[in-house]
Amino acid sequence: MVLRIEHLSKTYGNGTRALNDVSLTIPPGMFGLLGPNGAGKSTLMRILATLQEADRGSVSLGDIDVLRDKESVRRTLGYLPQEFGLYPKVTAEDLLDHFAVLKGIVDRAERKRIVDALFEQTNLEGARRKHLGSYSGGMRQRFGIAVALLGNPGLIIVDEPTAGLDPAERVRFLNLLSELGENSVVILSTHIVDDVSDLCSRMAIIDRGEIRLEGEPMASIEAVRGKIWMRAVDRAELPEYQRDFPVISTKLSAGRTIVRVLADDPPAHDFEPVQATLEDVYFAALRQPAAVAQGGPPAIV
Ligand code: ADP
Repeated sequence: MVLRIEHLSKTYGNGTRALNDVSLTIPPGMFGLLGPNGAGKSTLMRILATLQEADRGSVSLGDIDVLRDKESVRRTLGYLPQEFGLYPKVTAEDLLDHFAVLKGIVDRAERKRIVDALFEQTNLEGARRKHLGSYSGGMRQRFGIAVALLGNPGLIIVDEPTAGLDPAERVRFLNLLSELGENSVVILSTHIVDDVSDLCSRMAIIDRGEIRLEGEPMASIEAVRGKIWMRAVDRAELPEYQRDFPVISTKLSAGRTIVRVLADDPPAHDFEPVQATLEDVYFAALRQPAAVAQGGPPAIV
């Protein structure tokens, strides 16, 4: 099943244009939607999850018209929103069982089998009888995935799942995501570049409501290979470097500022070539003027 998003636009009542002519083709597997805060990721995720209306455009998931046939989408959707409330005094076991009933799994024995398997899969077996109020952030996210996986969804949407998780919880959560079915379309929306490089076979970069790049992380890195240069500068020199060179990022390291530049040739003799990373691809994509201003389509790598 392929998810096709075509010319999707959304402007909020206050005039904020959250999505501007977004088109993406998303095959089964893990797809990373990467963008800074305010880029439009959650708006796109909510439209795909049938929780919000688009102004223009079309979306299809296999044969399903996502914007019109919301019931069919909901039957095959697993959605882990950015924020969700859980009943703190209910046990995980009772709540998952309850959601399973809502998902239409009415046969008691079948439901038990599914619920048992999900607790196993999300590594919450030992905590299933605990109240959700006692769960850590990482456990809550894993429980959210268990809920999202009920009913074998063909479309799984996970919105900013690792924000706020400590490093160990993040790794555990990403490992869980990596095991999700290869036959489902899984969209991971995030502002964390490493989430995408660790997990996703395809990705898009979104900024200010527009797709800046769509492709494979490896191929995107390949496209800037040999074009990334770095130099340590004093903080006071930074404005000068930003004016004179195509700086894509600056980072503090051991008290000095490291400047990274994207250029075909050495920008100056004191720059050294460095290995390109997905972070370079990301910052370079964010530096591009909006596609509309350019008068052309976004780069496809
Ligand atoms: P992201 O998930 O990438 O952080 P969002 O989709 O939440 O981005 O937001 C995109 C833009 O739309 C932002 O400028 C945000 O302030 C704005 N926005 C989001 N929700 C609303 C809303 N309900 N009303 C008005 N503006 C909104």
